[in-house]
Amino acid sequence: MKVQVKVFRGRDFNERRPEDYQIFEYTGDEKASVAQLLYELNSKERLVDIHGQTCEKITWECSCFVKKCGACAMRINGIPRLACSFFLYELKSPEITLEPLSKFPIVKDLTVDRSFIFESLKEISLWLEGNARMKPETHEYRYGSAKCLMCGCCLEVCPNFRVGGRFTGAVTPVNMYRILDEQEKNGHRKDMKRSYSKSYYEGCGKSLSCRDICPAGIPVDDLIARSNAAAVWGRG
Ligand code: SF4
Ligand code: SF4
Repeated sequence: MKVQVKVFRGRDFNERRPEDYQIFEYTGDEKASVAQLLYELNSKERLVDIHGQTCEKITWECSCFVKKCGACAMRINGIPRLACSFFLYELKSPEITLEPLSKFPIVKDLTVDRSFIFESLKEISLWLEGNARMKPETHEYRYGSAKCLMCGCCLEVCPNFRVGGRFTGAVTPVNMYRILDEQEKNGHRKDMKRSYSKSYYEGCGKSLSCRDICPAGIPVDDLIARSNAAAVWGRG
């Protein structure tokens, strides 16, 4: 299968210009993932674009190649996805555009700085203190919550999220559910609930754009409702 691969190589995605893109040709198996495609392009001794010009290797991140680390999240034909779990046979035409997630600062090419996610979870004290309680009846949802890859895809589609703002996006309720449910110590539960309201509940517009985007298959809307119930409505 032959595919034209258009890659963003600029510095400011939100002010992007046509000259910020380079186009490459890739020939490979239709079962290849975008991660494999990028790996193979970068493995060439000389990476040339469709005009025969030698180009710098493409900067992108990937650790596991099997949907476990979230590092390869990027916009694939405009939709946030993991490069390791989008395959060439899913393309509607033999063209693919690869761009960085637009909500995060660009490090280079397709690599972005997602440290805001981790900093915002630290900010709301999202950790366990003392003993954890494990309720069998909530196991399924706690397990779902623990599958979060921190990839940022749900933040990319959220109209209310921006790096540096107070609103921390769906990553917060997805992870808050598990921690609140397991946290035994009352004082720490109260602190987490208070910061949850400020950093998430008060800023969420309930548009649910984040509902179907999660590459890990997490029921994001369900966990939002459960975290809201536990942290704000006093039902958990
Ligand atoms: S419901 Fe809307 S505002 Fe709330 S986290 Fe999801 S996308 Fe963002
Ligand atoms: S909830 Fe899903 S989309 Fe959002 S950061 Fe976690 S794994 Fe990514």
